Amino acid sequence: MSKPATLYNRLALIGVGLIGSSIARAARAQGAAGSIVATARSPQTRRRVAELGIADQVVESNSAAVEGADLVILCIPVGACGAVAKDIAPHLAAGATVSDVGSVKGSIVRDMAPHLPKTVHFVPAHPVAGTEYSGPDAGFAELFVNRWCILTPPKGTDPKAVEKLVAFWRLLGANVETMDADHHDLVLAITSHLPHLIAYTIVHTAEELQSVTRSEVLKFSAGGFRDFTRIAASDPTMWRDVFLANKDAVLEMLGRFNEDVSLLTKAIRRGDGDALFEQFTRTRAIRKGIVDIGQDSATPDFGRPHPDLPHTALPKPYASDEN
Ligand code: NAP
Repeated sequence: MSKPATLYNRLALIGVGLIGSSIARAARAQGAAGSIVATARSPQTRRRVAELGIADQVVESNSAAVEGADLVILCIPVGACGAVAKDIAPHLAAGATVSDVGSVKGSIVRDMAPHLPKTVHFVPAHPVAGTEYSGPDAGFAELFVNRWCILTPPKGTDPKAVEKLVAFWRLLGANVETMDADHHDLVLAITSHLPHLIAYTIVHTAEELQSVTRSEVLKFSAGGFRDFTRIAASDPTMWRDVFLANKDAVLEMLGRFNEDVSLLTKAIRRGDGDALFEQFTRTRAIRKGIVDIGQDSATPDFGRPHPDLPHTALPKPYASDEN
């Protein structure tokens, strides 16, 4: 049997947590790269990645990882990407594509681009898929299936390099869209960053309550609170970096949100049932729209395999040898 055709000869992953390990698993399942080399900051994570066997090679340094790689993906917190770009720059192969998976894109472009040599293609990316879990054990090959991956190549990036990375993410099961980095940050501020901020806040507010016991909060959490607790369990380092890096867009959305909360507050105080009913009817339609376009499923824990349901299938490999 011949091997599936590969898009890249050597994929280097810097950082192997939830996202990095999911890329490793999916790329291997799909034969997207000839070989996968991985590195992580701590010896514990490197050891665990070697034990899991999800990369062909685990190396100790960023420079050793990128040596000879034609695709390099940084899978580390947003705030660490600038320093790592500086670290790998002298070791990058000419013609390589350098990418990342950070949840904020404007700051990634500002932090990484100045360090990268002109001989490489810089194509930032954000797979809009995840769970509240971290580390190499948390990843799974199907994480990106039917989720969006947004690419934000700076102006002047070689279209062929962008197309190839689009093909890579499609092979991993994602739908791909390309947009400007600042626009990405505005869109994600309302669809992802603000919801996380609200979840972190509401869980904190509940914890501070004196009149409702902790056991009551846990016992009656199915009333809506439980869904917030899942989001509020997301990695603190990652989310600290997201809010620091996307400050302006998040503050803009927070301002609008506060105005809307004030309007609802007024409606409740005045007993204005019509205003409440009208708003809740409109928001119900938004939920229906999300389900209709397949961006949520019957599984309560969206974005990760449900124990009672079959895993979402990966798409057929790039050029399978089935015939
Ligand atoms: P994770 O599971 O916590 O893994 C993070 C990885 O980055 C680990 O390998 C860690 O190394 C390494 N790391 C942490 N701090 C570092 C530093 N200062 N310098 C170098 N390496 C460092 O995180 P993740 O969920 O995969 O997130 C990684 C990236 O994906 C973030 O930029 C995040 O914004 C983005 N993202 C996350 C999600 C999500 O839902 N989780 C979704 C889309 C995009 P050690 O293990 O050795 O400490």
